[in-house]
Amino acid sequence: MTTSENIKFIQCQLPAKVKLVAVSKTKSNDQILEAYQAGQRLFGENKVQELTAKWQALPKEIEWHYIGHLQTNKVKYIAPFVALIHSVDSYKLLSAINKEAEKCNRIIPVLLEFHIAEEESKFGLSMDEAEKMLSMPGIGSLKNVSISGVMGMATFTADQNMVKSEFERLYQIFQILKMGFFQNNDRFCEISMGMSDDYPIAVEAGSTIVRIGSKIFGSR
Ligand SMILES: *Cc1c(COP(=O)(O)O)cnc(C)c1O
Repeated sequence: MTTSENIKFIQCQLPAKVKLVAVSKTKSNDQILEAYQAGQRLFGENKVQELTAKWQALPKEIEWHYIGHLQTNKVKYIAPFVALIHSVDSYKLLSAINKEAEKCNRIIPVLLEFHIAEEESKFGLSMDEAEKMLSMPGIGSLKNVSISGVMGMATFTADQNMVKSEFERLYQIFQILKMGFFQNNDRFCEISMGMSDDYPIAVEAGSTIVRIGSKIFGSR
């Protein structure tokens, strides 16, 4: 199947309210343009340099999502244009994003990344860490970031029940934070979960943004 057919196939399976981020890391500008011509507008990248180069070269209508681990000293390169940063896992990073966003006169939407998988290597916050972060005295003064929800990655496993319970856990985390910290904030509304191999389970569990690479562009 072509990139365009893959996108149409996935879009057909997604409820209207679920957004599709096409994860284009390692893929060429031509491959991205093919998806763009099929109507795709949201793209996700996990390396700052690659993202910045693609942003410069490709149509400005593209909404770029940053989905990888982000170092504070690299925030400045993506702050002028990034549409959503999925991977905030510390107060230090949040405050660095706020600082760079302010310089660009922007409010940058971000998600809090949670560690929901069994694997040791995955980044992300625990519930405890998130509650501590959101209770920091300075958080209210970070006017140039908009905390818009949560993100997580399930364990890479064939055990569908395990994946399901991890996504359900992230949904639960979202609800708890919503009640505790964002009750009157309509912008806190996104749950970014689901990749090529597990997005149907994620959608079932309440995902609002799926991040799909290989099922669109082929394996990396
Ligand atoms: C690479 C990546 C994806 C997409 O993975 P696929 O399995 O190719 O769909 C999604 N989310 C993150 C954070 C990624 O790094």
